[in-house]
Amino acid sequence: MEKLAIVVPCYNEEEVLKIASKTLREVLDDLVKKGKIAEESFILFVNDGSKDRTWELIEEEHREFPKRVCGVKLAGNVGHQYALTAGLITAKDLSDVTVSIDADLQDDVTVIEEMIDQFHAGNDIVYGVRKERKTDTFFKRTTAQCFYKLMNFMGVKSVYNHADFRLMSKRAVEEFSKYQENNLYLRGIVPLIGYQTEKVYYDRKERVAGESKYPLKKMLALAFNGISSFSVKPISMVLGLGFVIVFLSVIAAIYALISYFTGNVEPGWTSLILSVWFLGGLNLLAIGLVGQYIGKIYMEVKHRPRYNVEKVLSSETETDDAH
Ligand code: UDP
Ligand code: MG
Repeated sequence: MEKLAIVVPCYNEEEVLKIASKTLREVLDDLVKKGKIAEESFILFVNDGSKDRTWELIEEEHREFPKRVCGVKLAGNVGHQYALTAGLITAKDLSDVTVSIDADLQDDVTVIEEMIDQFHAGNDIVYGVRKERKTDTFFKRTTAQCFYKLMNFMGVKSVYNHADFRLMSKRAVEEFSKYQENNLYLRGIVPLIGYQTEKVYYDRKERVAGESKYPLKKMLALAFNGISSFSVKPISMVLGLGFVIVFLSVIAAIYALISYFTGNVEPGWTSLILSVWFLGGLNLLAIGLVGQYIGKIYMEVKHRPRYNVEKVLSSETETDDAH
């Protein structure tokens, strides 16, 4: 039976920690009783440099339930994505499969069972996907949709309406840990890992207590980080624009020359207008070209794994199917 670790990043979550711990312990107990996970399964709280009593509460929980509740204390506040990464990488050495979930229990804990079932059915990654909320305001829905469309357009593969509520097998986390980049955007990296994946659907709820630690500013920063860490398409767009403007400058040149010969222009206009268009286009082209190289360097310095071998069939090696 596989050992499950539920990874929970926490930043100033003293109000919800006890409730989260209790709820998740019940989920684990239930799954253990049903024989779906090992008895040694546990919750791993990651304290992301909280300024309140979060860590003291985690310690208390650990004292009370030493087997069920574990904790990692980060030395300072590094942000959700990094805290989650720290938790996943710590958990992978202690467990066989991980589920990441926010401390505020906005994600439906009852679908963890479904995730585990999907895991047993052979999936290495199971995404928790939020159902379209009809209660959402029109504004919220359209901005969210635009966000995912933009990400897709920019070439960032990501799962629609999926935040960071997901199951990952040990080998998936191991593969993920090979992505050594500093600008982390997990939702973009996880689909790059490969392996068989599945989605489970749920309704997202309101926060149990406390308030959102993700103000609009942090959300926009996450979106920008997502695009700029995964795509060099903006650079290509500059290059494309350069081409278009140089092409337009040829048309402008023809127009300017015709105007010049038909004689109804101010002296100096023709050469000015030609230089402005042509040099402008040339500038953009050059920037775009240099940008292409910078984009390549950018992708190189990430040192991402180039491939992920899932299985080898040969007479010499016997790879097992366990995950
Ligand atoms: N979080 C974190 N570090 C931060 C900000 C948030 O670990 O710097 C955690 C937070 O405790 C929560 C999760 O990330 O468990 C998601 O945050 P929140 O629920 O505030 O975001 P929202 O659901 O409002 O987008
Ligand atoms: Mg939340």
